[in-house]
Amino acid sequence: MIPLASLLDRLSAPAELAVSQADGSVRCTACGHRCLVRTGRRGVCQVRFHDGKELRVPWGYVSSLNADPVEKKPFYHFLPGSIALTFGMLGCDFHCGYCQNWLTSQALRDPASDESAYFVRQISPEQIIEVARRSGADVIASYYNEPLITSAWAVAVFKLAAKAGIKCVYVSNGNATPEVLEYLRPYLTGMKIDLKSMQDKNYRQLGGVLKNVLDTIKRVKEMGLWLEVVTLVVPGFNDSNEELWEMARFLLSVSPDVPWHVTAFHSDYHMQETPNTPARTLLRAADIGREAGLHYVYAGNLPGRVDEYENTFCPKCRAALVERTGYFIRGVQVTKDGKCPKCGEAVAGVWGWAEEQGNR
Ligand code: SF4
Repeated sequence: MIPLASLLDRLSAPAELAVSQADGSVRCTACGHRCLVRTGRRGVCQVRFHDGKELRVPWGYVSSLNADPVEKKPFYHFLPGSIALTFGMLGCDFHCGYCQNWLTSQALRDPASDESAYFVRQISPEQIIEVARRSGADVIASYYNEPLITSAWAVAVFKLAAKAGIKCVYVSNGNATPEVLEYLRPYLTGMKIDLKSMQDKNYRQLGGVLKNVLDTIKRVKEMGLWLEVVTLVVPGFNDSNEELWEMARFLLSVSPDVPWHVTAFHSDYHMQETPNTPARTLLRAADIGREAGLHYVYAGNLPGRVDEYENTFCPKCRAALVERTGYFIRGVQVTKDGKCPKCGEAVAGVWGWAEEQGNR
């Protein structure tokens, strides 16, 4: 088997999000780390590298390609019940100890991830679109690894998706730059961003910076992209009332219409000793979100155990608008033009093709 680094270096293309420096090094602007990558070196993510001539970035393969319900990303206000063809590559700019996709995300960063080489499948953007068509997908999502660091490949796929009338979304850790968001803007309709903590020291532990994530959340909303935010509630890491209130207040300051998903952690990767998140903790987190004034709060990963926090309610009359059990949709009452059928209140989201722009 060819070593993973050689395999991935071969599957690469020249970077676009890169600024050449006078000394031959290149400043990468694809994520908030803004690595200065010198000749022969790699960025923090390891998958973008300087080959002596230029910065090279991942290209021409997927590590995973699955047709999933869009709810699994999770997007709850984005064409509910539709299929999202989801692709991922390898690599990440964070190293979260609880990562549930660590085998693909930590490629080249953790030798235990070397077997992810077996997942690599060369493919063209045209073939991905063909799979999307055959799967009946209305959405294409870049997910599984951190999509920001593989944005060139995502854009190559998204360009064709747009022509095929398929909406494109990112599932990201939010460690973006204004440059990468502008680069993606013509193709993206929605973004799911993790808000992992409100403490910078926690983000440093994961390999990130809190401010970058908060700035990305604000910027994505200002850009008019559809935004949903997810917090994996990890016992002892981010589950105090104080921290959950701080997250809820921050999201409220962005918009009460940003859906907030608080989801259950299960022991994984370097956090095998941390207990799974109990349902009562998720309910406490969701109650805080609702009490803070957020219109749409969901509790995820524990289907059937989180009371009404799997459903969407009208923010005005509280009519049940979308009823779910896990990823399964039991009914959608939102009108085609994104309104509550009972009281006519606008419900934030992307509910239909023609009306999409007006619903945000
Ligand atoms: S994507 Fe981020 S981590 Fe990777 S080289 Fe660029 S700035 Fe560094």
